[in-house]
Amino acid sequence: MSFSVHGQAVSRGIAIGRAVIVASSRLDVAHYFVTTEQVNAEIERLRSARNAVVDEIERVQQSLDAQGSNDAHPELTALLDVHLMLLQDEQLTSGVKHWIVERHYNAEWALTSQLEVIARQFDEMEDPYLRERKADLEQVVERMLRVMRGMVSPVAASVQPGAQGSGNEVPLVLIAHDLSPADMLQFKQSVFAGFVTDVGGKTSHTAIVARSMDIPAVVGARSASQLIAQDDWVVIDGDAGVVVIDPSPVLLAEYGFKQRQGEVERERLARLKNTPAVTLDGQKIELLANIEQPEDAAAALKASAVGVGLFRTEFLFMGRNGKLPDEEEQYLAYRRAVEGMQGLPVTVRTVDVGADKPLDRGASRSGDDHLNPALGLRAIRWSLADPAMFLVQLRAILRAAACGAVNLLVPMLAHASEIRQTLALVQRAREQLDARAQAYGAVRLGAMIEVPAAALTIPLFLRHFDFLSIGTNDLIQYTLAIDRADEAVSHLYDPVHPAVLQLLASTIAQARAQGKGVSVCGEMAGDVAMTRLLLGLGLRSFSMHPSQILAVKQQILRCDTAKLATWAQSVLVAEDPAALMAD
Ligand code: PEP
Ligand code: MG
Repeated sequence: MSFSVHGQAVSRGIAIGRAVIVASSRLDVAHYFVTTEQVNAEIERLRSARNAVVDEIERVQQSLDAQGSNDAHPELTALLDVHLMLLQDEQLTSGVKHWIVERHYNAEWALTSQLEVIARQFDEMEDPYLRERKADLEQVVERMLRVMRGMVSPVAASVQPGAQGSGNEVPLVLIAHDLSPADMLQFKQSVFAGFVTDVGGKTSHTAIVARSMDIPAVVGARSASQLIAQDDWVVIDGDAGVVVIDPSPVLLAEYGFKQRQGEVERERLARLKNTPAVTLDGQKIELLANIEQPEDAAAALKASAVGVGLFRTEFLFMGRNGKLPDEEEQYLAYRRAVEGMQGLPVTVRTVDVGADKPLDRGASRSGDDHLNPALGLRAIRWSLADPAMFLVQLRAILRAAACGAVNLLVPMLAHASEIRQTLALVQRAREQLDARAQAYGAVRLGAMIEVPAAALTIPLFLRHFDFLSIGTNDLIQYTLAIDRADEAVSHLYDPVHPAVLQLLASTIAQARAQGKGVSVCGEMAGDVAMTRLLLGLGLRSFSMHPSQILAVKQQILRCDTAKLATWAQSVLVAEDPAALMAD
């Protein structure tokens, strides 16, 4: 029977596919398809792993026998018996085989998929003893995964992550309780056609990465990962924030139609690629790209971006078990982005970890174990807390500037002392490179305006920086005291709250009055519903995911900024600006 769950719409379009439920603890398991010829080898890999674990357990049993400890540790003996039994269990072995043979999943993916299926059955058992056997099953699967990690997979080496050469092209959608931004990035080149998570807000960093992947996604869908079962048919409506489970044929036809309509619309937008972004009254608008990885430069160029307005460098720092990238690795990454943009400018933002962007799951330095991580040691605060680490990044950025136009952007500044320290460290980084006689280039220095305190002291920032970039995601979060990652308060996350609009308008006006560059690089810049308002407030530079650029350009081509300026002033003083937005 069809039913639906509702969440936050984060990435447009419709995806229809079978559900792959991934438990948070198993996100690092490889997901790829094998070809028909590789199926037997994959089953063999699984059999070897199982045999290795059986051997391991039997060896422990024998050593207990030899020490005569069986009587001393009856629980351990019983536990080992249970583990052996689970390993031979028909439901596990035949279920895993099913995923490999029918769905062409690789062995690890098949194993964790079947684990999810059986774990649910354990959860539903009345008998507490049997229910607790779920933990044993998880341990057994964990052991097998560990063995497989040590086995070189001849299949994995020959398969590209996104390749679907299996002949089994059923689209798949990923359902998880939570995905960290780093997990999400890992799935960027993956086989999935859409995403659903139980938690997360519209401008959480997980949502932002989902949007950059340009596939339908819904976050904050509460208990979706509990309600959806492995392999269920699911429709993800990324426009409405709705997830339909087990859709009826009528619903399927309806969503299939919407999906095709979306494709036609994209093809139509693609024709705007070579059209300059100029308004009806001749105002040239700069459309820049937000990227997470150097490789995203290709998508930026394809979408006709005239530069990168925000390179979120923190993704280079995440998921590395605390081992941060050294200067050479960072330099090469920034240089790749610069070269990828083929002479167009790249704005490299210094690392912004913390809050909902932990370095690693469970890592403490980023502040994610603190009470209010969004108010804690994140962004520039994190960098200034470890100047040696910050200098490594600054040197790498300055060196990349020798290869092309680079702007250096600093996140989350609020205090004059932070500005002074940052500028002094940039100067120190230059001196260190001079001392090494290493080449580096000139950079334009920019400050992100994303804390209300910064937006209220713009003259200070204009004195010290060449340009400003307004981070509306955080500016809204901090102005309205709404955690952007918390779906429970996402209804209060209001981009057109009068207070937010006042800060935006005055920042844009002051920067322009001094002839300094100002752009918006938060999600607002890529939201077509906001384009007219931002133009009316005087914004001429927008930075967004490459996937949004053509849709925003389409809006721009229809706008007259002179008319919009008058209208925007009325929105600015309205008690309920949202009511005027449709005018
Ligand atoms: C913002 O806050 O608007 C921004 C662009 O930075 P991030 O989303 O990475 O915090
Ligand atoms: Mg921010």
